[in-house]
Amino acid sequence: MKFLASILGLALLAGCAGGPPIDHSYSAVSQDSRVRYVILHYTEGDFPRALQVLTRGAVSSHYLISDRPAEIYQLVDENRRAYHAGVSAWKTDAQLNFSSIGIELVNPGYRDTPEGRVYFAYPPEQIALLIDLLRQIVARHQIAPDRILGHNEIAPQRKSDPGPMFPWQRLAQAGLILWPDAAEVALRRQAFERQLPDAAWFQRKLALHGYVLPCSGLWDEATRQVLVAFQMKYRPERFDGLADAETAALLDVLTSHAAP
Ligand SMILES: [Zn+2]
Repeated sequence: MKFLASILGLALLAGCAGGPPIDHSYSAVSQDSRVRYVILHYTEGDFPRALQVLTRGAVSSHYLISDRPAEIYQLVDENRRAYHAGVSAWKTDAQLNFSSIGIELVNPGYRDTPEGRVYFAYPPEQIALLIDLLRQIVARHQIAPDRILGHNEIAPQRKSDPGPMFPWQRLAQAGLILWPDAAEVALRRQAFERQLPDAAWFQRKLALHGYVLPCSGLWDEATRQVLVAFQMKYRPERFDGLADAETAALLDVLTSHAAP
């Protein structure tokens, strides 16, 4: 009797903890990861402040990479949602918190001085750790190279991180993102020096590349902000948001192989 009671107790316990029995013998071939993007940020503050904000507040990220010393902290499981992207869009996808992994890099961001806005460099050790982490994430979730993006690319009207000091070209050298071929850019630049395309051309190309912006045909503020985001990434020496031949050439090369 005592034996029976303990069996019954065990069965009840199993029922509470495990739910109905589920057979895991079969697996569908048609499946992939829900993670389709990696979004990069700077914290605009030091490590203790960032840790406080990202673990105790309404915003969060999957990973936080400190600067000195450089170390990786995981704050949210990759298969759960973190709150880092906010109102955001890329191509036909919106609200990218649903489909992305967010990585915050400890960096002061920028400081406004009488000489203008000054941005801060990222320590090489921090970027080396980021590249290692990105390689693992890309392998785990099969992230395409055009889906590792900055926060300012998916929210160009309100964000500027990871900023013009972020070394995107190092990520390209590591094979993580695509980069326009310099010789091809130089060649196309010559043609654009003779005749700069109009606002509608830039807007069409920027949208083809992935940015979400109104195609007004005008040099409006929204277009300027998107050009700032594009230049910060591909031509960080000058990111005034003004259209020029080099920007046109970079954009033309990057979109020449994209599907319309
Ligand atoms: Zn951000």
